Order: sequence, then C-alpha cells, then structure tokens
Amino acid sequence: MFMNSETRNCQNCKKDFTIESDDFSFYEKIKVPPPTFCPECRMQRRLAWNNDLSLYNRNCGLCNKSIVTIYSRSSGINAYCNKCWWSDKWDSSSYGEDYDFSKSFFEQFNTLVKKVPHMALINDDGIGSVNSEYTNNFFFAKNCYMVFCAWKVENVMYSYYLVAGKNLIDCLNVMSNCEWAYECIQPENCYKVKYSQFIDGCQDSQFLYDCRNCSNCFMCSGLRNKKYHFKNEQYTKDDYEKILNDYKLETFSGVERSQKEFDNFILKTPRKFAQITHSFNCTGDLLNNGKNTKNCFNVQSPENCNWVINSDNPIDCYDQLSSGETSECYEGITSDHSNRNIFGVFSVKSQDIEYTHHCHNSKYLFGCVGLNNKEYCILNKQYTEKEYKLLTAKIKKQMINLPYIDNNGATYKYGEFYPVELSYFGYNETSAQENPLLKDDILSKGFVWQDNIQMTTGKETIKPEDIPDSIIDIPESITEDIFKCVDCNRNYRIIFTEFEFYKRMSIPIPRRCFYCRHNKRLIMRNPYKLWHRTCMNKGCNNEFETSYSPERPEIVYCEKCYQQEVY
Ligand SMILES: [Zn+2]
Ligand SMILES: [Zn+2]
Ligand SMILES: [Zn+2]
Ligand SMILES: [Zn+2]
Repeated sequence: MFMNSETRNCQNCKKDFTIESDDFSFYEKIKVPPPTFCPECRMQRRLAWNNDLSLYNRNCGLCNKSIVTIYSRSSGINAYCNKCWWSDKWDSSSYGEDYDFSKSFFEQFNTLVKKVPHMALINDDGIGSVNSEYTNNFFFAKNCYMVFCAWKVENVMYSYYLVAGKNLIDCLNVMSNCEWAYECIQPENCYKVKYSQFIDGCQDSQFLYDCRNCSNCFMCSGLRNKKYHFKNEQYTKDDYEKILNDYKLETFSGVERSQKEFDNFILKTPRKFAQITHSFNCTGDLLNNGKNTKNCFNVQSPENCNWVINSDNPIDCYDQLSSGETSECYEGITSDHSNRNIFGVFSVKSQDIEYTHHCHNSKYLFGCVGLNNKEYCILNKQYTEKEYKLLTAKIKKQMINLPYIDNNGATYKYGEFYPVELSYFGYNETSAQENPLLKDDILSKGFVWQDNIQMTTGKETIKPEDIPDSIIDIPESITEDIFKCVDCNRNYRIIFTEFEFYKRMSIPIPRRCFYCRHNKRLIMRNPYKLWHRTCMNKGCNNEFETSYSPERPEIVYCEKCYQQEVY
C-alpha cells in the first residue's frame, strides 16, 4: 500500500518528525509499527545500551578468575569470562520462563537479562584473536591494546572503528590498509602519516586535511598528487626538510604549536559539505559506495538504509549501530551477518529474531538472552514451531494492550526499542554521551548515571611538566612511570610497544589519557547529525545536508565548488 509522508510528534522530546512514504514501506515490509520516537531520540536510546569503552576489573561469575569487563558491579549483570561463557559448563536454556500475560514484556525481559550471564567483553581474545585482552567489540585480530569496534587488525593501540590496518596508534575510522599511522581520522591506504584527517594514498606526511596521493607534505589541505608542500606551497626537498625540522615535531611543545597553526590554516580553506564518495542519492557523512541511503554516518556500501551508523554492507536496514553484513534489520546494536534481526543487541549470525541480547546462530527467537544455536524460543523457553507462532502473535497483542510505561509517561508497545531507564549501562559509560546533555537533563530524561566509572587518580610517579619535551630524551624506564592526564587527572601508563612506536615515529609522549584523546577525535569528526544549509561560495545557491551546524566557523562548500578549490 502506498502511503504519503506524515508528520508525527515524538513521545520523548515532543518535537515533530516526518515519516516518509519509503519509510512506511520499510516498516510494512518488516511488520513493525511506525516509530513513536523521532530519529534522534531513537538513536540516543540505542546508544544508551552501547558501552564500547568503559572497562572494569571484576571476577568471572563462574571460574572466579580476574577479568576485564564492560559491566560494572552496579550494572546487575553477572559477567562470565569469555572461555566460561562459550563453554558447556552452563546452559542458558535453564533460565527459561513462562510468559506472564499480567506483566509487561519489557519488565519480564529485563528480569531475564539480569539473570542470564553475559560475556565479560565482546571479543574473541584467545579464540579467534591473539594477545588482545583490553579490547571490546573486537574480532579476528592480533596484538592489540585498548582497541574498540575493530576487526582484522594487527599491532593497534588506543583506536576506534577499524576494519583493516597494522601498526596504528590513536586512529579513528580506518577502512582500508594503513601502516604506521598516528593520530589520524579516516586515513586510507596510507604509510607513515601523523596528525591528519581524511587522507588517501599519502605517505611520510603530517598535518594534512583531505589530501590524496601526497608524500612529504606538511600542513596542507585539499592537495592532490603533490610532494614537498608546506601550507599548500611547493618547496625544494632541502627547504621542505628545513621547515619541518624547525617545527620540532619530536617535542610535545612543537606538536601543540603545529596543531594550533594547522587548525587555523584549515579553518581558512573551504571544506566539502560531507565526506561522501562513490555514492548515489545519499545523505549523511563518511559514506562510501552508498545507494538510496539517508542519514547514515560512517557506513560502507549501504543500500536503502536510514539512520545506520558505524556499519559495513547493510541492505534495507534502519536504525543500526556497529553492524556488518545485515539485511532487513531494524533498531539493533551489532547484528552482524543477520537477516530480519529486530531489536537485537549483540546478536549475530541469526535470522527472524526479535528482542534478543547476545543470542547467536539462531532462528525464530523472541525475548531471549544468551542463546546459541536455538530455534523457537520465547524468554529462553523452548516451544514447537506451531506454539511459537501462536504465542508470539498473542504476546505482540498483549504488548499493545499492556505496554511498559516509563517514569516520564512514554509508552513502549510492540515495536519500541528498550527503554533507557532499564539500561544496565550509565549514560556516561555509553556512546550516548557523544551527543552531550547536561547531567540534570540526563536524569530527567530517564537515563541511568554511573557514579563509579573506574578511574585511578593521584597515583602518578611523574608530573606532566617533568616529562622531557622531546621523545629523544625519553628513556625506556618511562614504561615504569604512572602519568597524570592534563585534562581529567586520570592516571595512565605507556606500555613498551607503545614506547617503541613513539621512538620509531618521533612522537612525544602523550600528556592526555586515551579517553580524552578519543573524545578530542570525536569532536574533530563532526556529530552524527545533519543540518540543511546553502553553499558558502559567493554566488552559489546549491543546498545540501551537512554535519557542519550553521554556527560553526568552517567554510562549507557544495561538491561542485569544492572540486574547483582542490588542486
Ligand atoms: Zn524526539
Ligand atoms: Zn570464567
Ligand atoms: Zn583524560
Ligand atoms: Zn557551491
């Protein structure tokens, strides 16, 4: 049935939002009612269930071994080490419950979530990955430390969202092979690059913005196929090297000074309204190879998608976070290799499943937690195919008649994602804080607040001002010191392979902890949000959707005007 676009009022923020006719067709196809929360509130709700980075030391609930986990003690989650979780020493089916028609679905599901043990960290360290204990949402990789949302990488530290690469520190969004990169956002096919953003095919360069096939360049923007350039001007090899040496990038003060100068330099050069390449009929940012896709951010090869972020190859998917190879999935977090995975949280390689957390290799599940290789289960209890069909139809009706009602009066019928007030994560542990709210707003909106973020302070053995400015003067014994972050006071260490990397790449010892460095990169990346704006080139009236909000200082151009600027 063809439907026109319609304006609805968001249950949560009370602002109007539009559901397009294509969207109605999608909801019709996957048989869920249209959303009652606006896209932004839906995204925040999803993000509130996704803790990528906050880690805790606890003990495995089964073997008692000490573990690193994303679940704090106050989360109410029983965390098992990954060996125990995947073993047959326990059985998730034994937690099966009858559905109680006198209670709301979300209330019963929440009880089950708190009972069934969870994997301490979502990684395959010691199974598919090697020597990568401090990682989360991480698979098939080797020798990594503090790496999150990553697959198939090697010797990487302190980085987020990578699908390829080797010998990288402090990188964000790496989609194709890079080696020896430091402090880069979306570098592709690069070798020996530092402090750069959106670069492709570059080497032996630093402080570049949107440059392609450049080598030995420093502080440049929008260059193509250039060598020995400084601030977009050509120099001889000798003069270039002299300039570079004068900036003393082996020192902390030299890097800080260069960063300020570079930030000012790129503020004066125009930017493209969005990083969208090889795509047709798409809106969003950081998109590659997309077709008929709207509001997607950091996604490779999406087709007919809407509101998908940090994902790979989604087809006909709406409202997805950090997923790969998905089709007809809706409102989920890491639903990899799945078809019709609806309201799935870390449930992979499955089809026709609804409302599941950590269920894998399964089919026809409804409201289940921690099942592997199962069919026709509801609240972890086994049914026959016929019983399953009758009972799920009856539950969906009951969810409409007896919805969960949150503390702000919003109702959660069949078709809603999990309420944020039931999340086992605090807002300040999750990626919801990437779109910052004030603490009072957070609490009034029902988000949980984590008061006990694990963080050591006051144990430093060296003051930030006593760290030698140049990496050349740093002895190996620095790996025994404890540092204090100049922004948040958190203690941190430099591990040996990290120290070796800094020496080899002439990089000064960081004065900030990983969390502050990561947050700084997220700000440089722009928010996952679009504004309708007009090209800022005089005389051009082209309009576009951009992640640069109107009050920002950058000069933002349409595709055509930008192409005339690069050289
Ligand atoms: Zn809203
Ligand atoms: Zn264990
Ligand atoms: Zn810090
Ligand atoms: Zn223009």
